[in-house]
Amino acid sequence: MAEALPLFPLAAKVTALRGVGPVFAEAFQEAGITTLRDLLWSLPYRYIDRGTVQRIGELDRLPGFQDRDTVTVLGTIRDLRQTTTRVRRMALLEALLDDGTGALRLVWFNQAYLARVLKPGDRLLAFGPLAAGRHGLEMRGPAFEVMGRNGGDDADLWVRRYLPLYRKLGPVLGRTRQRLVQETLARAAEPPEWLPAELARGFPALLPALRLLHQPPDDSDPDQLDAHATPAHRRLASEELFAFALGVGLRRAGRLARPGQVIPTTPELREQLKDYLPFRLTGAQRQAFREIVADLTSGRVMHRLLQGDVGSGKTLVAFLAMAMVAETGGQAALLVPTEVLARQHAATFERLLKDQAQALELLLGPMRAAAKRQALARIASGEASYILGTHALFQEAVSFARLQLVVVDEQHRFGVRQREALKQKGLDPHWLVMSATPIPRSLALALFGDLEQSVLDELPPGRQPITTRLLDPGDAERAWDLVERELEAGHQAFVVSPAIDPQDETQVPLRDIQAMEALLRSRFPGLEPAVVHGRLKADELAVRMDRFVCGGARILLATTVIEVGVDVPNATVMVVDHAERFGLSQLHQLRGRVGRGAARSHFVMLSGSDSERLRALVESQDGFRIAQKDLELRGPGEFFGTRQAGLPQFQVADLVRDRQLLAQCREAAEKALQRGLSEGQKQWLRQEQARLKLAEIS
Ligand code: ADP
Ligand code: MG
Repeated sequence: MAEALPLFPLAAKVTALRGVGPVFAEAFQEAGITTLRDLLWSLPYRYIDRGTVQRIGELDRLPGFQDRDTVTVLGTIRDLRQTTTRVRRMALLEALLDDGTGALRLVWFNQAYLARVLKPGDRLLAFGPLAAGRHGLEMRGPAFEVMGRNGGDDADLWVRRYLPLYRKLGPVLGRTRQRLVQETLARAAEPPEWLPAELARGFPALLPALRLLHQPPDDSDPDQLDAHATPAHRRLASEELFAFALGVGLRRAGRLARPGQVIPTTPELREQLKDYLPFRLTGAQRQAFREIVADLTSGRVMHRLLQGDVGSGKTLVAFLAMAMVAETGGQAALLVPTEVLARQHAATFERLLKDQAQALELLLGPMRAAAKRQALARIASGEASYILGTHALFQEAVSFARLQLVVVDEQHRFGVRQREALKQKGLDPHWLVMSATPIPRSLALALFGDLEQSVLDELPPGRQPITTRLLDPGDAERAWDLVERELEAGHQAFVVSPAIDPQDETQVPLRDIQAMEALLRSRFPGLEPAVVHGRLKADELAVRMDRFVCGGARILLATTVIEVGVDVPNATVMVVDHAERFGLSQLHQLRGRVGRGAARSHFVMLSGSDSERLRALVESQDGFRIAQKDLELRGPGEFFGTRQAGLPQFQVADLVRDRQLLAQCREAAEKALQRGLSEGQKQWLRQEQARLKLAEIS
């Protein structure tokens, strides 16, 4: 067999591989793997270090061993039996694993399907916690890999120290994937280097990097492998991040090349606008407004992100920008995610506009037909120049007379589609995006790298810091005492319950909003709390919110519908039940609902667990710091709560772990764009962009 086989390009289909027919190809396709490149980029989900595989006969003599320690063993299944536990009638599967030095009992609860997966005689690699059972040591609920079947032998597995494990994809077993990967690595042609020299330096080339990850050499550092921090990992992450940075850079360049509407403002007008305001702008607000004015008069299309902590006064800045457009004959729209918030902003704007308030129009989804017709007519004629609303604003029936500015509150809940809807109407307005939660710099760069940024890093004067406490549920009475004192002083109170899905099967019994309502009614008799949650109809929700906003109700009991935007300066205390159920940024956002007036305010979290994480809120009032911590703890996906947040789908890169790399890639991308991309690079970029599913961000 001395015949040299031809090399495969990475773009070749997986079907080029021996043994990959239509069935496998389809299973791969479902996992997003169509080419050899995709196959190689799907890295092992973990590595087993041969040195950590224990002899079963020595398990009870492991030095430093503690109950519940996780260990790895490799053996053959001798015996397999299904039973039912006597006490709670749970399905129980037991396997006896023998490795020649001894036998270990493996047990799984309520995983009856495993009886169909495992067979006596299977070679099994199992890793799980050891515990003392009735018959000695046993391993409970281990994860496992079937390494061989029917006496098949796994000698070839352990020629190296590290054994890579791959997830099973339908009919394609992990071991089969490993074989296919090895074959591909042996036969793939090294592609040209796409990365600019300053990025590629210090990293292995692509194929060598992939080899290092699919068959780590014995001297690899196990911790680095686990942390995805080897130079090989960083090489792959750089490819993704560089492609991403190029995409963002190109999009930005494209926007800057587009002519934007010039808003014909004058310095006099800008001074005049400030007459609308009941107070002096903070320095940060003034600076942000200056930046916006510069954009609106630049002849280019503005895409600006306005960031600031809760309560930093973003709404006011948005109002000024909108007023500038409205006073020069244009229309400006403010889009918000909820109707509660839309009404709230409308009330604020009405107060600010006073006798100009007829220029305001509120457009909501469920409006009466006649009212809606009238609103639409006023928008189409240009009579309405401040337009506030929810998604209804994007409906096809809406046509604008002179839409020049769109302000989006809470950007990440708005999709690309709505923006496209406006483009379809031939509109190319300026965009101001306000984020409700501060976004850590690394993420902001990644997500909004094509946006200019203004940051409100200063709170309006006279704010009192909010006293924050974390109480064990057993001490809840202290929280209610505090609420009582505040109510007696004439103030109002928020109580927040987590929204509970009845399907939810957590071990901790949760107090739901009904139980909390009962508690509040008996603790504060005669006070009749306003109760709001997500299942209420919009008008009912509005009525109940109004009761609280106008002071008719002294206590507002709510799920997180209040998270965004309610502004009730007389509310001075908030109690959050089951605080562990909330993200840190979400809690910080909730906390921002109090402390809006001059009186000292209090924020109390009731929680019996997770106190280490929640401490971050007691210790800091800085939204950016809290957001960074939240991001580190939960990762970008969870941080935003949705997939359509526009986060790119990286295979290897991680926006938190690789934030420094991202910064380098951005710099390199800027330089590369200045130099101009080669044809090859452009082609590579097109593939990468499609693969990363880079959502168009703005
Ligand atoms: P954000 O949207 O950034 O959370 P808001 O715009 O809702 O903050 O402002 C929070 C509160 O601060 C509001 O009650 C607002 O009227 C008030 N506020 C805003 N700017 C100023 C200012 N320059 N001076 C005093 N109060 C201000
Ligand atoms: Mg706001």
